[in-house]
Amino acid sequence: MDSSLEQYIAAIKAIDNHAHPLLQVATGTPPDTDSDALPLDALPPMTLPTRLRAEHPDWVSAMRDTKARAFKSPSEALDFAGIDVMLANRISMGPGLAPPRFLWVSFVDALMLPLDGKLESARTPDTRSLYALETKLLHRYMHDLGVAKLPATLDDYVKTIVTPTLERQRRNGAVAVKFEAAYLRALDFDDPDPGIAKLVYSRFASGGTPGRAEYKALQDYLFRVIAREAGRLGMSVHIHCTDIAGSFYSVRGSDPYLLESAFNDSTLRATKFVIIHGGWPLVTHTLSLMSKGNVYADISMTGMVAEPRELANTLRMWLNEYPDRVLFGTDAFDGGKDQSWQAGALIATNSARRALGLALTGMMRDGVITRERAEQLARMVLRENALALYGLGGGKAPG
Ligand SMILES: [Zn+2]
Repeated sequence: MDSSLEQYIAAIKAIDNHAHPLLQVATGTPPDTDSDALPLDALPPMTLPTRLRAEHPDWVSAMRDTKARAFKSPSEALDFAGIDVMLANRISMGPGLAPPRFLWVSFVDALMLPLDGKLESARTPDTRSLYALETKLLHRYMHDLGVAKLPATLDDYVKTIVTPTLERQRRNGAVAVKFEAAYLRALDFDDPDPGIAKLVYSRFASGGTPGRAEYKALQDYLFRVIAREAGRLGMSVHIHCTDIAGSFYSVRGSDPYLLESAFNDSTLRATKFVIIHGGWPLVTHTLSLMSKGNVYADISMTGMVAEPRELANTLRMWLNEYPDRVLFGTDAFDGGKDQSWQAGALIATNSARRALGLALTGMMRDGVITRERAEQLARMVLRENALALYGLGGGKAPG
């Protein structure tokens, strides 16, 4: 790696597009259970990629280094990893996680799942526990609004629960909303028939279990309503898109190409979509989707899964075509006592900086870009693209 470029990259204060930091809670208080709507520990045992396992040397040393610092607040962990702002994808925010260092990304799958998901949840051992969590979360959202039961019609459901929940999240500081739908179903949010969606809703709102095709028609409709409303309110839509997690997870169901139907909906062009985890490992599919005017991708999680050289190849490919759509992210998560979110943030950040350095060095040496452009691309990926996307002060539209 070009050493002066390496130093330049190391000095950029990053904006982490996607992570799950924990609250700063005093010992003796109940544990923080809001860091993920669908936590991995709810799933049956699964096989993880080598670099994501607690015994991997990168984790062992990152755990040692972060523990030794004994951070007194979540922001100190950001300082240590060279992160300026972390987008916190959580059910709620709280002590230690506040702007300007932490910005909220809420969860919205629950709004797409108002009916009895018995048939859906019976599909695999993974989905069995996950659907119940979404039902609980929808009830929490309804409780927050003071709504006791589902209204009788779909239009009223959207008017009294979906839109007010999104407005409430925006008021409480959310800059984006997140779908973890790929844990639950395939990402083929097809062009919905509103008539069928309305019929299915009103037939089952007060009880009974919709068939899987019926429920999908309603979900497809609600996905687009939520995405449209989020865009109207100025929130981006984040979509989990990678081949992890769970032993019964549908790998084919998380192919980025499945999102094309939603991305091609002309009524959703005011909404900015971010392919979270970059669709890894189907990164060429993600590249093609960046040709839509409103599609971005981040490299969260990939910095922990792929070796830097491999991630560098992806970054080089993306940066050659759509440099203003590529975002840095970590997916720092709480993995129990051997995998803290602080250690995850450190691993993913170091790995991403290395990958970016390798990609840009290669492009410079091959005469594809100048040193000046390499430095600009580094700033865009680590910081400026996110500033522009979320309208955070100082973000010039980069070229
Ligand atoms: Zn995540």
